[in-house]
Amino acid sequence: MIRLLFLSLLSVSAIESAAVQPGSRSEQTATQGGDQFLDGIGETGLMARYVFNGNAEDSSRNQLHATVRGQGAVFVDDGPRRVLLLTGEGSHAELPASALSGEDALTVTGWLYLPTRALGPIFDFGQSLTTRLSAAVEAEGLRVTALVEGQARGETRTMPLIDHVWTHFAVVLDPASRVLTTYRDGVRAGQARNVDVTLAQFVLPAATTRLFLGRTHDDRQPTLHGRLRDVRLYRIVLGDEQVATIRRNALASVQSPRDRTTPPEISTASIPQESPFATQLTSVPNVTVETIVGMLPRLPAEIPDTYTGGATGPVRVIWPAPIDNMEVRRPGTYTVTGRVPGTTFAPKATVIVKARLGTRTPPDRLVEAFPLSRVTLDRDAQGRDTPFIKNRDKFLRGLAASNPDSFLYNYRETFGEPQPEGARPLEGWDNQTTRLRGHASGHYLTAIAQAYASTGYDPELQAVFLGKMNYIVDALHTLSRKSGQPARADGPSVADPTAVPIGPGRESYDSNLRAGAIRTDRWNWGVGFISAYPPDQFIMLERGATYGTQDSQVWAPYYTLHKILSGLMDSYEVAGNRKALEIARGMGGWVHARLSAVPKETRTAMWSRYIAGEYGGMNEAMARLFRLTGERRFLDTAKLFDNTNLFFGNADHDGGLAKRVDTIRGKHANQHIPQITGALETFRNTKEMPYYDIASNFWDIVNEGYMYSIGGVAGARNPGNAECFPAQPATLWENGMSQGGQNETCATYNLLKLDRQLFMYDQTAKYMDHYERALYNHILASVAEEDAGNTYHVPLNPGARKQFGNANMNGFTCCNGTALESQTKLQDTIYFHSADHKSLYVNLFIPSALTWSERKVRVQQVTDFPYADTAKFIIKGSGRFDLKVRIPGWATRGVVVKINGRDQASKATPGAYLSLSREWRDKDTIELKMPFTFRLDHLVDQPNVASLFYGPVLLAAEEPAPRTDWRQVTLDRNDIGRSIEGDPATLRFSIAGVPFKPFYETYGRHSVYLHVLFK
Ligand SMILES: [Zn+2]
Repeated sequence: MIRLLFLSLLSVSAIESAAVQPGSRSEQTATQGGDQFLDGIGETGLMARYVFNGNAEDSSRNQLHATVRGQGAVFVDDGPRRVLLLTGEGSHAELPASALSGEDALTVTGWLYLPTRALGPIFDFGQSLTTRLSAAVEAEGLRVTALVEGQARGETRTMPLIDHVWTHFAVVLDPASRVLTTYRDGVRAGQARNVDVTLAQFVLPAATTRLFLGRTHDDRQPTLHGRLRDVRLYRIVLGDEQVATIRRNALASVQSPRDRTTPPEISTASIPQESPFATQLTSVPNVTVETIVGMLPRLPAEIPDTYTGGATGPVRVIWPAPIDNMEVRRPGTYTVTGRVPGTTFAPKATVIVKARLGTRTPPDRLVEAFPLSRVTLDRDAQGRDTPFIKNRDKFLRGLAASNPDSFLYNYRETFGEPQPEGARPLEGWDNQTTRLRGHASGHYLTAIAQAYASTGYDPELQAVFLGKMNYIVDALHTLSRKSGQPARADGPSVADPTAVPIGPGRESYDSNLRAGAIRTDRWNWGVGFISAYPPDQFIMLERGATYGTQDSQVWAPYYTLHKILSGLMDSYEVAGNRKALEIARGMGGWVHARLSAVPKETRTAMWSRYIAGEYGGMNEAMARLFRLTGERRFLDTAKLFDNTNLFFGNADHDGGLAKRVDTIRGKHANQHIPQITGALETFRNTKEMPYYDIASNFWDIVNEGYMYSIGGVAGARNPGNAECFPAQPATLWENGMSQGGQNETCATYNLLKLDRQLFMYDQTAKYMDHYERALYNHILASVAEEDAGNTYHVPLNPGARKQFGNANMNGFTCCNGTALESQTKLQDTIYFHSADHKSLYVNLFIPSALTWSERKVRVQQVTDFPYADTAKFIIKGSGRFDLKVRIPGWATRGVVVKINGRDQASKATPGAYLSLSREWRDKDTIELKMPFTFRLDHLVDQPNVASLFYGPVLLAAEEPAPRTDWRQVTLDRNDIGRSIEGDPATLRFSIAGVPFKPFYETYGRHSVYLHVLFK
């Protein structure tokens, strides 16, 4: 029955017209398939999704399952589907409070069906009846209220709902714009402005936060009588078109690719594209480069331009980025035209393509890192704990207090073993049904091993870590030996990893991990198997399974395995734990057996699959296992992980990264970065040049076209996924800066690994310049002020703030797991040595002490850096060696070097290593002064938007509130430092009253990118 008719549907054509964002280049490039887009919205925007088709599970990757309570709540058939029926007699659903904690914005969407004259609450999120965001069906219509301590901060009302029809509703709370919007059937039906609330007011960290569907905070008030389905929580603000698309797709029940809409973003229209220095630029020279047949040329990202008055400075040039290498298939000459962003200059590059001349000599690995135990972090010159020590200790405390049984919980359950008393499972991506469970345990084992290696200064603490490491390895060893072995003397078993049968009583392989339903027939799993879930996901991947949360889908089986194997090999390398190596060897054999039997085409398809085929650095792990065991089959296995399309373009190896073709555009960043370090590890063991080229070309492509100022990558609004590279290189302004954030922290961890490993072959300072940039401005900036909480994305949108999760180490995302590794090895790249121990490399300026046992030398680095621009090195011991000190690329104002107090005439070039060779004597000192300057680091394709740096340190503007525009600053045209006041000793500055401080000390809202004007 219809109580009242209201607005009819908008005409379909009006809704469809905005499906493709103008100016986007999405048609030019195929993004990865899979479940990354639901109704055109990337999965990074979705917090939870309750389809209610027979259960209350969250089908998003976060697995925040709801609980259905009360009399009369049932799942019923409704046409082609099942839905949740609430009968109004107290029945309701409750969502985990963590679904919204730490978020800034909220969109709730869902479908509601009301019987005759039914009323009641749809949702009620908050603390109490007086502090909550709620939606309710009233006789007058749908009413949405934002209430804080009894005060209405915003309210919308719609026309009455219609009985006996499914209504699509959406509620969007956008605190930055101070707007609350309600949608009904895909159309905006009510809006309140000047809504002065934050989501945090409703979702306090306290245990008092409740998220109800179908009831209010008062259990005496009536509950909902109606049906619910497909209720979704988004952490981003959805716009009109997106809400309309969700509804339209549900009605059409088929998603068309053109529904890949782009989220509404902070307006960029007000910022001009023209460079503020365009009129001063007088010439940009053309360039000539050489390359060999097949290899795309390496074109200079910067060319020294000439300005009026004769001043020159490198200016960014964006060159075309071809999608293949057709132009260099034959010897000859051709010309390409670049552009200088924000100007009309179009420099030309003449490319000379030469025939391949002989074979290239593979570079040797001339430099190595010191073991973690040889380098300790020290307090600074004034005796203060450094940011590195503070972060390390937050993690060491958490790890020391952790219970290894939590990290073993899912493993024991998988193998059908009882839990020790008091063992509690982890949450987050390690909860019961998460198909990635077990990943954190691998990170944990690595972290424990690193913590053990790094705490020689505290034997008691070190013993704690050794105890935990041995306990975990022993437990995993016991489990792994049960796989493929009879459970009892005369019982059946399947030892062959390629013969694992379907689980008992099942019809197919599946990823059902629910309590009581998970298969535990470990005797059928083949010898050597170890994981926190049964082997099905590995097998399903071979058979084409995609990423998702249905029982027929997988998450990323080899990704999880990579973490476990790395943890085991770290335990072996750090502490000589042979059992750990034995487990790794067993599982390596299992992987070798299975993948050897998989046709090449199938493997190519597997590794190209979004997330499902994400394998971390399995190729690196397998090459490393070869190095540790000498067993050739593991090196062969490493190559079975070749991501053929990414690495080589196609099966014939015509292109790809090996030929400097950008094959990463639009791809998931962290899925692919570890594959590159894996390629380099394969090169280390095979000396096959294409694997080296893959790594060094990738580094250039990423650093020149995809990098944000903090040294991280990913955050695309095209494709709409905050974990993906933008659809085209050098389009961070056009296609990056997604609403869901940028800079997945895992990805930066892996970029740092690549930096240091490339440096071992090629001692070019650029690798360590990036290392420093990302270490200070992302890794150091990713940890909470008071505890071990840490970031997933680090958003750089104006007025954004970091969200720190997992302070108690009990619920890990990928990045929370990776943080355990990052923060327990902060000393690992300060010093390197040449392979022949004749040279010592100083890469970073961090108070520390090095024990160089091979040369019987100790080096102490005393500094307040970056709160001072000096560093002093004290040699203890003696001998002739080259001291190679990195002169940072930003140190452009003359570096002074003193040895034993006397000025050296040595020429220190920014962005290069300075070599000091002599017969060093005990107590010799080397002092360095590297004057800091203020400088701007521009978004690659927007010359008016930049980050402010002081030396190596990114300075972020402190923001009191969310923003809907980019913060403007006006700087002196000739010397930006003249516009900035402050104290270099504390790194606290201000520009026209706006406070700036290091991004790594920023815990509130910030603006990292600024709209820069000049006076
Ligand atoms: Zn991550």
